[in-house]
Amino acid sequence: TAAGAVATDAAADGTTGTAAAGGREEEIRALVGRMTVAEKLGQLQQLSWTGATGPGGSQTAAAERAAKKGELGSVLNILGARHSNALQRIAVEESRLGIPLVFGLDVIHGFWTTFPIPLAQAASFDPETARVDGEVSAKEARSQGIHWTFSPMMDVTHEPRWGRIAESCGEDPYLTAAFAAAKTRGYQGTDLKAKDRVAACAKHFVAYGGAEGGRDYNTVDVSESRLRNLYLPPFKAALDAGCATVMASFNTLSGIPAHANSHTLTEILKEDWEFDGVVVSDWNGVGELLPHGFAADGADAGRIALHAGVDMEMVSTHLADHGEELLAAGRIKEERLDDAVARVLRLKYALGLFENPYVDESEAVPGPTPEARQAAREVAARSMVLLKNEGGVLPLAPGKAVAVVGPYADSRDLHGTWAGPGGEKFPPVTVLHGIRNVAGRGAKVTYGVGATKAADVVVVVVGEGAKLSGEAASRSDLGLPGDQEELIAAVAATGIPFVVVLLNGRPLTIGNWVESASAVLEAWHPGIEGGNAIADVLYGKVNPGGKLPASFPRNVGQIPVHYNHENTGRPYDPENPGNTFITGYLDVDRTPQYPFGYGLSYTTFELGEPRASVERIAVAELKRGERIEVEVSVRNTGEVAGDEVVQLYVHDPVASLVQPVRRLRGFERVTLGAGESTVVRFSLGAEDFGFWTNAVDGRFVVEPGRLDFFVGTSSRATASCTLHLE
Ligand code: BGC
Repeated sequence: TAAGAVATDAAADGTTGTAAAGGREEEIRALVGRMTVAEKLGQLQQLSWTGATGPGGSQTAAAERAAKKGELGSVLNILGARHSNALQRIAVEESRLGIPLVFGLDVIHGFWTTFPIPLAQAASFDPETARVDGEVSAKEARSQGIHWTFSPMMDVTHEPRWGRIAESCGEDPYLTAAFAAAKTRGYQGTDLKAKDRVAACAKHFVAYGGAEGGRDYNTVDVSESRLRNLYLPPFKAALDAGCATVMASFNTLSGIPAHANSHTLTEILKEDWEFDGVVVSDWNGVGELLPHGFAADGADAGRIALHAGVDMEMVSTHLADHGEELLAAGRIKEERLDDAVARVLRLKYALGLFENPYVDESEAVPGPTPEARQAAREVAARSMVLLKNEGGVLPLAPGKAVAVVGPYADSRDLHGTWAGPGGEKFPPVTVLHGIRNVAGRGAKVTYGVGATKAADVVVVVVGEGAKLSGEAASRSDLGLPGDQEELIAAVAATGIPFVVVLLNGRPLTIGNWVESASAVLEAWHPGIEGGNAIADVLYGKVNPGGKLPASFPRNVGQIPVHYNHENTGRPYDPENPGNTFITGYLDVDRTPQYPFGYGLSYTTFELGEPRASVERIAVAELKRGERIEVEVSVRNTGEVAGDEVVQLYVHDPVASLVQPVRRLRGFERVTLGAGESTVVRFSLGAEDFGFWTNAVDGRFVVEPGRLDFFVGTSSRATASCTLHLE
């Protein structure tokens, strides 16, 4: 009964990844046949050109030496078309076989043009935002000699303490899957050879977001069913969209480091899913098998990782150092070595590097173009979530005197974590500048706490610095750092209405002060055009329509608090027999401050009653590919045009595996003029009604019985209809 792990419209457009190598297979085999063991091992090695700390460091000289000998497959962190061409020339013109290098870089949410962080993009509930980011980023990166980005990151997480939630799409696998597929399409297009495309990398494989306590790199121990229902679906969606490569993750998974995990890397990824692309290690991930206590020495680490399914070693050099002796001793199999090499060569063929290893330096995009900036501005505005708006303080009327205050009002931190080379080189439009730009000449905009007396409204810009989220940036306290809450209290004491703009990389606890604010706009780390986009929203040029991709907890002790938790046996609540609210604590409400899927608008929407296209359907028909529809009408009942994200959740009340109280299985962001209405239709099939069991060999089941659909504008949707599976 195995349906695909997830169905998005992802695969529909015929995107190709490494499969584009097609008829090259014979050529690849022949080339592998001509290679020495050292050359083969070299193809599996990736070294870092610059800027690295920790094990490995800068490996510039080593990379040049290895390239010349034809014993290097890839380099990461090389910047600039001129440099990458120069190194490529060594590999292609000076080595025995002239195999080109593939150059990788973390282009996470922009190369020159920084888009909002991925978590923000997810808040748009519009995967097109990720596709656009991918497309713009690919064009800029490829023109500068980068062929391969280590993105999209698709680690589902229920842990706002984890700094890498900023790089993720939050707490839901379905939303994450849709974004993973869209971003892959944006990067890769339909032909990796095109000079404006890069290979994508689905990372981190797998379950990295489950790190205990949200501590980065930490232990993960999950059941097979949770692995398959929660963590794997986005990877399947990205691969179905053609994603060319996969990166292993730093965590252990049920006692086995991900880099040593043949169950996930080989059985699931390469065998069940028939993935024929490259599995790259994470930074020194093979070396980390030693501190994990899983390998006795470097040779052991190289052997374990290769046989588990890692094809390329990033930064550490255990396989390259010990591969020959391992092979001679029969500790690694030549067949596996050749398979790994073939995968690397397949990627290079797909990228067209054998035909054209160089980039045209005269075509290198030198920085963000006006079009790219405009795209980043639109994506940023679409990513913002209006958490609160009392008394209609927003949108700001043009004539109002506005005082802008707060440590992030004029800061560069809008770029956020992993900002790419553009983050260093091109400062973002700050909130203050954005407000000045959008409010226009003659507007009364002042800056600084002392200015607030003459103001009609105060805009308080607070949040987290860019370095407070991202890798190795977990926090145990999710309040506003430093004395920012005191600043808010001081502004509140003036009695002037105030709007809080939040710039941050994760859900924060805002319960201490949210009551005192008239409005709160969650702007995340919105990228290079962030200030303009924020001002667009504050002044109503853009009506906010984003929704939270991760729940905002009331306090840290409540974590994990997410919408897709399982049913519990208690508490007994006659009003809520399905126990859709998680059990709680004595000292805090059991709901989060704001749930997944929540967000307001400057207008109001009304939804009709949802209807399923049929009342009953046979499981057998679903397995044959039959689908049903759930439809709902939505009307803009307010005075201005705006966006609403209509969301569909499924609940299976009786199943052979305890089910989450809700699972997102459809969403659509619609734009409606004042008074306008439309009908949203969700198409659902077997993959939406079933689940993966605990079977280690992967069993997806669709069970007979009733299913409940909830349709609404957040994960708290109450309108429902049912379907009976027979
Ligand atoms: C991160 C990866 C990243 C790699 C290369 C690692 O520390 O976990 O996400 O792609 O570094 O920079």
